[in-house]
Amino acid sequence: FTYAEEDKSMRPAVNNVSYTVYEGEWVAIVGHNGSGKSTLARLMNGLLFPQTGKVRVFGEPLDEQSLWDTRSQMGMVFQNPDNQFVGATVQDDVAFALENNGVPFEEMVERVKRSLLKVKMSDFMNSEPHHLSGGQKQRVAIAGAIALQPKILLLDEATSMLDPQGRDEVLSTVQQLRAETDLTVISITHDLEEALLADRVIMMNQGNKYAEGKPEEIFQRGQELVDLGLDLPFAMNVSRLLKKQGVTLVAEHMSEEELV
Ligand code: ADP
Repeated sequence: FTYAEEDKSMRPAVNNVSYTVYEGEWVAIVGHNGSGKSTLARLMNGLLFPQTGKVRVFGEPLDEQSLWDTRSQMGMVFQNPDNQFVGATVQDDVAFALENNGVPFEEMVERVKRSLLKVKMSDFMNSEPHHLSGGQKQRVAIAGAIALQPKILLLDEATSMLDPQGRDEVLSTVQQLRAETDLTVISITHDLEEALLADRVIMMNQGNKYAEGKPEEIFQRGQELVDLGLDLPFAMNVSRLLKKQGVTLVAEHMSEEELV
């Protein structure tokens, strides 16, 4: 996919990238700024269509015809928690898309309740969204997405504007949702710590797929990740810098959690 197709001098934002996400998996797409992650997200939900190649969702080519069906199966949570609210209260906000989709009133009330319970935001049902913390806002955004009962949850840099506590809240919400349901999660992130939680990592660089594998396989690349402009998780960074000075910090019996 190239943004201005007529401009031949432009390099494709996404080039020759091929991957599959399996049902029930959590796949993290990582890469530094400009590596093509958001373009991939837009290609996956049909905000953009590739000039060559195909996107298949649930095995079917994503095109103008299948677009709305696909979107209804794909919940999206975006980067900026403040840009996602339409309702005056938390419950109105979660109900908004359901109302638009013609879900009957009683079912709507039930789904709003259930979704807020799942993200542990039931106590804030009547709160005004702008009074919430960043992490709470994103949890409400997740509730809004899962209320539609999608098969896929697509998180596009959903934690990148949050403080560490907010980020942990959102990530543990996603982990808990996955433990309770067969939700497929695709998270687009430049945060390698977030990627550690995924089942599989796809690494982008300059519009190409640079690597793909389990988090531990990707993390073994150490310095290579730094060279690609990615920030290593804190504990890895400390350990790596000390290693340069001949100090091995992580003893075999010591877990990364203990180290942190
Ligand atoms: P990432 O999400 O990894 O930061 P993007 O997908 O946003 O990467 O960007 C990939 C490339 O496409 C970059 O070179 C970027 O400048 C370019 N790009 C992104 N959005 C647009 C746009 N709307 N118009 C033109 N070029 C764009």
